[in-house]
Amino acid sequence: MSNEKYKNVMHLGNPTNTIAVLNRYGFNFQKKFGQNFLIDENIVEKIVREAGVTEDDFVLEIGPGIGTMTQILCENAREVVAVEIDTKLIPILTQDTLSYYDNVTVINEDILKLDIKKLADDKNGGRPIKVVANLPYYITTPIIMGLFESNVPLDSITIMVQKEVADRMQVGPGTKDYGALSLAVQYYAKPKIVLNVPASCFMPRPNVDSAVIKLERYDKPPVDVKDEHLMFRIIRASFNQRRKTMLNSVGNSGEVNVSKEKLSESLEKCGLPQTVRGEALTLQQFAQLTNTILE
Ligand code: SAM
Repeated sequence: MSNEKYKNVMHLGNPTNTIAVLNRYGFNFQKKFGQNFLIDENIVEKIVREAGVTEDDFVLEIGPGIGTMTQILCENAREVVAVEIDTKLIPILTQDTLSYYDNVTVINEDILKLDIKKLADDKNGGRPIKVVANLPYYITTPIIMGLFESNVPLDSITIMVQKEVADRMQVGPGTKDYGALSLAVQYYAKPKIVLNVPASCFMPRPNVDSAVIKLERYDKPPVDVKDEHLMFRIIRASFNQRRKTMLNSVGNSGEVNVSKEKLSESLEKCGLPQTVRGEALTLQQFAQLTNTILE
């Protein structure tokens, strides 16, 4: 992965180089932005390798920090756009750590406010993009759901998240981690945890374990559902009160406009017991129940 052309670049995966940059700019970490920078070159290279980035790819990086992973992305991708909210990091990136690369654009913006679909259309002609990021953990779920729900043309999302959140995205029914996030992610993508990353690989050290998960976007969802919004409302209502039966959690939910009678009848038609809880249903069963309610 390392290329001769870049052998003189001060790679930030080397902690000595990271500390030098931080000192040069008197940079103070901002907790509110979830700033934990990677300081392990091996991990950075592995993330980019697992993301399968090639010289044909347009890559969106969310939260480049001082540019540790951006450097390696630039060395492997055709083009990189890095979106960073913290204004103090912009001169570090553009005038220093990324100044060697001519295939990167840094945008100073909140990723939740950026029109990513337009960016993908403008920069990649609407073809699927790859998203790679060591995410700010405080907004992991809105970032992922925003990417899936806003029709951004996506090939894959390879992201560092809290280990516990990665587990939640990957599991199926019958486990305590199974919930609305598992089902939402699995509706849009095939999830696979590709790397566990200890806290010692970051500066400052986070107090949680981390993992890298790759979400490969499906061309078409794995289930046929007539109204995905209704299905997700049913899913949310089931897990908002996960210890209750679906008849109570969904039947009494203001969000799902379905009578208890209709729900009871639909559960029966789907071969599900009246006492069933949402945590026991697969994505397939949620889709079937939704379609039955709509019959
Ligand atoms: N990629 C760098 C690395 O691996 O060393 C930094 C990762 S750090 C966990 C998360 C980064 O996301 C920080 O640089 C932070 O300032 C940035 N960030 C936080 N909230 C953001 C937002 N809403 N939009 C864009 N960037 C954000």
